[in-house]
Amino acid sequence: MKYNYHTHTFRCFHAKGTDEEFVKAAIEAGFDEIGFADHSPWPFSDYVSGMRMHENELEDYCTGIKNLKEKYKDKISIKLGLECEYFPKYIPWLKNQIKKQEIDYIILGHHFSKDEPGSLYNGNMKAPEHLYTFRDDIIEAMQTGLFSYVAHPDIFMRGYPVFDEHCEKISRDIIEKAIETDTPLEYNLLGLSHSKADGKQGYPYPDFWLMAGEMKPPVTVGIDAHTPDAYLDYELFKSGYDKLEELGLKVVDKIKMFR
Ligand SMILES: [Zn+2]
Ligand SMILES: [Zn+2]
Repeated sequence: MKYNYHTHTFRCFHAKGTDEEFVKAAIEAGFDEIGFADHSPWPFSDYVSGMRMHENELEDYCTGIKNLKEKYKDKISIKLGLECEYFPKYIPWLKNQIKKQEIDYIILGHHFSKDEPGSLYNGNMKAPEHLYTFRDDIIEAMQTGLFSYVAHPDIFMRGYPVFDEHCEKISRDIIEKAIETDTPLEYNLLGLSHSKADGKQGYPYPDFWLMAGEMKPPVTVGIDAHTPDAYLDYELFKSGYDKLEELGLKVVDKIKMFR
């Protein structure tokens, strides 16, 4: 089955195209199943994020995707998801929304620790203590059983200067927990395209994936589509699968859904 569960929408301010254009591109590219997992809103008390929909837009997002699900049901299977950080204090709110909005799945995209306001972007970490906080959060998130997979588990290598012994340690711990909790780790194609474009090695980071190749966690591939065109980059999609195969890693056939 050809799938991608990592699709964004214009609502996050850094993606382009209508929801329907993503669906049409996915059909054109021959996908059997796709999922929208736009950046989740959070019930911030006094803060407006520049990288995610506002809380009061969630319903519109969910309704929009559910309508497309119905409209295109004979051509492609569409799932409704969200990409969420692991913010323990908002988990009760999130669980409530999953029920209320009939969300099919969520993926862990841990861009910040604890909360967004006042915290460091996890693609910008420079100090070992940040890495350990990141690791602890990811591990705790996997243990909740809520997340269908971990998006860009190696996001820390976007900013961290070198893959040192701390990176090695947290990578091992994250991979170990992925195995234990049967949570796939995502080989992120948006990161791969960035690395190819600017020649700067970010995620997917080779050392992380070499370790994964030895340890054999469940893995998946995510396009992390922020434009409909991303679905049509066949070469990039293939290179992700080829890389994982070369590492001896088998991409999971499906991910866990709530319904
Ligand atoms: Zn994004
Ligand atoms: Zn994403």
